[in-house]
Amino acid sequence: MPAEASTKKTGNASDTEVIGWRRVNHHHPDPLTGCDLSIPFENTYFRELEGLYRSWKGDSVPDPNILIFNQGLADELGLPPALHSRAGARLLCGMTVPEGVTPLAQAYAGHQFGNFVPQLGDGRALLLGELVDSEGRRRDLHLKGSGATPFSRGGDGKAGLGPMLREFAISEALHALGVPTTRSLAVVTTGERIARQNGPEPGAVLARVAASHIRVGTFQYAAVHHGPRMVRRLADYAIARHDPELREREGRHLLFLERVIERQVRLVARWMQVGFIHGVMNTDNMTVSGETIDYGPCAFMDAYHPATVFSSIDHQGRYAYGNQPRILQWNLARFAETLIPLLDDDEERALELATERIQAVPTRFARVWLEGMRLKLGMESAEEGDRRLVEGLLALLREQGVDFTLAFRRLGDAAAGDPRGFQELFSDPAVTVPWLERWRARLARDSLPDHRRRDRMMRVNPLYIPRNHKVEEALRSSVERGDPGPLERLLQAVVSPFEEKPGMDDFARPAPPEFNASYRTFCGT
Ligand code: AMP
Ligand code: MG
Repeated sequence: MPAEASTKKTGNASDTEVIGWRRVNHHHPDPLTGCDLSIPFENTYFRELEGLYRSWKGDSVPDPNILIFNQGLADELGLPPALHSRAGARLLCGMTVPEGVTPLAQAYAGHQFGNFVPQLGDGRALLLGELVDSEGRRRDLHLKGSGATPFSRGGDGKAGLGPMLREFAISEALHALGVPTTRSLAVVTTGERIARQNGPEPGAVLARVAASHIRVGTFQYAAVHHGPRMVRRLADYAIARHDPELREREGRHLLFLERVIERQVRLVARWMQVGFIHGVMNTDNMTVSGETIDYGPCAFMDAYHPATVFSSIDHQGRYAYGNQPRILQWNLARFAETLIPLLDDDEERALELATERIQAVPTRFARVWLEGMRLKLGMESAEEGDRRLVEGLLALLREQGVDFTLAFRRLGDAAAGDPRGFQELFSDPAVTVPWLERWRARLARDSLPDHRRRDRMMRVNPLYIPRNHKVEEALRSSVERGDPGPLERLLQAVVSPFEEKPGMDDFARPAPPEFNASYRTFCGT
C-alpha cells in the first residue's frame, strides 16, 4: 500500500498535527489508496424523498487534513480505522465520493426570526449518506462547509475553522450533559483561506452525525412547494425513522405530532436546565428528532438572567434564554400547521386537534421542566409547593447575578450539610438563609440519606460547561497559533462534566463579568 509520506503539503495542517481527540490512531500509515475505506452507506432519503433535495457534490479543496477526530463516535458508527487518514479527509470534506454514495443538499424552508422564507436548504452542506450504528439506529453523516450548492443564495458555501471547532466542542459538551444533539465526528481543514468579516480564516468542514436532518422547515418546504401528498410522504418517512412503532397505527400523523412535541419539549427543558441558549431557534433549526442542531450563535449563560442573549443579530431578544419555551410553542404551531391535511378529512376537526395539542404545550413544558428541576435540587418525591421553591431560588440567583451552573453544583454540598460554597456565590449571603431553610425542610420530607442525595445531585448538576471565555481562548489558540492544547483541555473538561478533575479549576469558574457583557456570537459563519 503506497504511503503518502512524500506527498508535498501546501497548507499548514499536516497529519502530525491531528488533535487526536480520543486518539487511537495517532501514527496511522496515512494511506491514500489500497486501504479499506469501504463504508456501508445507505441512502433512503435519496430514494424516498425525491423533490426534497438536489443531488450534489463537494468542492475540490487544496489540502484536506483531519484536524480533530472523534474516535468514540466513529466506533459507534462502525467506521473503519482507515477513515482517519488522508483518504478519509478527502471523503469527510466531500471531495471524493465513494462508489454507491449519492450525496445531496436537502431542501427546506423556515421562519427566520418570525419571517417565512420559502426556500433555505443546505447552502453549504451535504448529506453524504446514512449509516446504521452498532445499536441498529439509522444516522445521517452530513458535511458542513463542503462548498456552494443550489441553495447557497449567494453565500460561498464554506465554513471557517473557528466556528466548526466551536460546534465540535459545544455539541460534544451537550451530549455529555445528556442533552439530545447532533454529534461531531471530525473537523477537516481544507487548506483554503476563506473571506470572513474579520479577515481571511482557514476553511474547514465539519462532519456531523444526526438521527436525521428533518427539520420543521423540511415540512414547511414540502407543504409550500409540493402540497399534502409530499407532506404525507415526508411524515411517513420520518415516522419510519423516528417512531417506527406508529407505522401501522390508526391516526399515526396525530400521534407523530404528539411525539415531536414531546421530544422538543424535553429538549428545550434540558437546555433550560443546563443554562444553554440556542440563539437561533428558527423553524429550520428545529429537528423532528428532538436533537439540538445548528450551533452558530449558541452560548452558555453564566450569571442567571432570563433576558440573556449573545447573538449579534438578535436585537429584540426573541431567542433570549428565558424566551426559549415560548418560541418552542410557536415553532411547534408552525409544524402542526403543515400536518393539518393529514390529521382529519374534515379541516375544522383537523385544526381543532392540532390546536388542542399546541395549546397544551406550556403545561406539558412546565411539568417536564419541574421534573428536571426537582432532580437538580435533590428532591425525590413531588410536592405541591415545589415549583414555588424552585422559583424562589431562581429569583435569588437573578437578583444577585449568581452563576447558574455553580449555584446548583454547590447545592449538592449544601444538601449534605455544608452550604458555605453556595452562599459564597452571593454578594449578600444572608439572603440565602430563609430559602435554604425552606429547602432543607422540604428535603427532610424525602427519605433519601444526605450523602446519597449529594451523589445524585452531583450527577445531574455539572461542574464543567463550555464557558464562553474558555471556548474563545481554545479557538483562538487553535486557529491563530495552531496550538490545539487549550481545545484539548476544554474537551477533557466538558466531556465528563460531572466529575471533578484535578488542575481543571479554570473551567469551573465563570468568565469575568466584563467578558460576557460584551460577548457576541454569530450565525452562518
Ligand atoms: P443558519 O443560520 O446556519 O441556520 O443558516 C441559514 C441558511 O443560510 C441555511 O440555508 C444555510 O445553508 C445558509 N448558509 C449559511 N452560511 C452559508 C454560507 N457560507 N454559504 C451558503 N449558505 C450559507
Ligand atoms: Mg441552520
